[in-house]
Amino acid sequence: MHLKIIKQGYRDARDVSVKVHASKVPLEKTLLPGKRKSCYNEIMNVMAEIEQRVSRIRDEMVRLRRDFHRHPETGFCENRTSRIIAGYLRDLGMEVREGVGKTGVVGVLRGAAPGRTLMLRADMDALPIQEKSSSPYRSANPGVMHACGHDGHMAILLGAACVLAGMKGRLRGQVKFVFQPAEEGAGGARKMIEDRALEDPRVDAAFGLHLVTALPCGTLGWGKGTVMAAMDSFVLKVTGRSGHSSMPEDGVDAIRASARIVDDLHALNTVNNESDTQSLINIGAIRGGEAANVIAEEVELSGTVRTLNPKAKAFAKGAMHRIVGRVTGEFGAGFDLDYREGYPPVVNDGEMTDLLCRVAGDVPGVDGLLELPPLMASEDMAFYLREVPGCFFFLGAGNPEKGLTRPLHSSEFDFDESALPVGAALFAGLAASLPGME
Ligand SMILES: [Zn+2]
Ligand SMILES: [Zn+2]
Repeated sequence: MHLKIIKQGYRDARDVSVKVHASKVPLEKTLLPGKRKSCYNEIMNVMAEIEQRVSRIRDEMVRLRRDFHRHPETGFCENRTSRIIAGYLRDLGMEVREGVGKTGVVGVLRGAAPGRTLMLRADMDALPIQEKSSSPYRSANPGVMHACGHDGHMAILLGAACVLAGMKGRLRGQVKFVFQPAEEGAGGARKMIEDRALEDPRVDAAFGLHLVTALPCGTLGWGKGTVMAAMDSFVLKVTGRSGHSSMPEDGVDAIRASARIVDDLHALNTVNNESDTQSLINIGAIRGGEAANVIAEEVELSGTVRTLNPKAKAFAKGAMHRIVGRVTGEFGAGFDLDYREGYPPVVNDGEMTDLLCRVAGDVPGVDGLLELPPLMASEDMAFYLREVPGCFFFLGAGNPEKGLTRPLHSSEFDFDESALPVGAALFAGLAASLPGME
């Protein structure tokens, strides 16, 4: 995913970082009132133990992250990765199920007393990118790279698993550690749910995080309600009639019609700026024509449509059909528009988000909470959050002083590993604080 923000004047990731520094608020002011006071001592006690345990495994998390980074695997091919994870969880004494949703792993930690079940999730897949790096842990698999920080997500979740396994005598209920394949487009989360990742025991709440270099280390980005967009895809075939390029009047030029469609669809992104119908359409691939001196008969365009609510999605779908119909009509061309529903929007539960912010206030590595506007990126964490209440949040892992500012999906992406213990403490803190588990 990319951290692209379209509202409240944020233009790009760099602007976000600047804004974060400028608006950092003392934590006490950002903390939410409520339960924190009533069991403050007990929670602080538990948080102190979590902190201690996390500091002991700091190097171990870095080692795990670098090993995953060195050996990246793409979606549904995470075989080595899942073997390591399953072995690690088994060594911690957990019940482990492998091959969930093809290459996923689910570990269950049972506390000393009955209670609710919290799910913590990490994604495992890398991207088909050739890494440009001279670091000793750079990818050893040509053309494959952990450029979205999922190596860090796995190290964080294994760190949290280690910490919580050591404290299970103090824990009520169950913690389910869900390592899912194929977040990058193939919808591994959906496969995990089909394969009963949310059952046995039934999950009551789910949390996941994404590391981002657009936020500095120590900053947690959060939001309530819709925090990330739905993303659909489409394949559009435009059909003309071939002919000699010296006699355009005898043919129907599918390339010219497509060029107009590309322009008009892109214009929708700026023309339609009402917040409740706003969409972002991108055409990412275009293929067509046979020879320089032949009028092109067929062009295929494919792209994505991102929206933040059902009204915007319906509007974008309708507008696309209208535009494509009008333009092809003017040219005398035909079309076939195959619109495919993709990831739903990521919708955070209000209470779960409050819980996250309270826990964050007790984690020493977190020194700022930043409420983010909805992002136009998407994430298949959305599938879990459609089934159970929970929260997906962003953890800053950027560090301009160390030159760690390259965006997600860049061939030069890397992040500040001091975010790893912060993420593990947050996850462990959530498990110790969820009502019914504390
Ligand atoms: Zn990604
Ligand atoms: Zn990602």
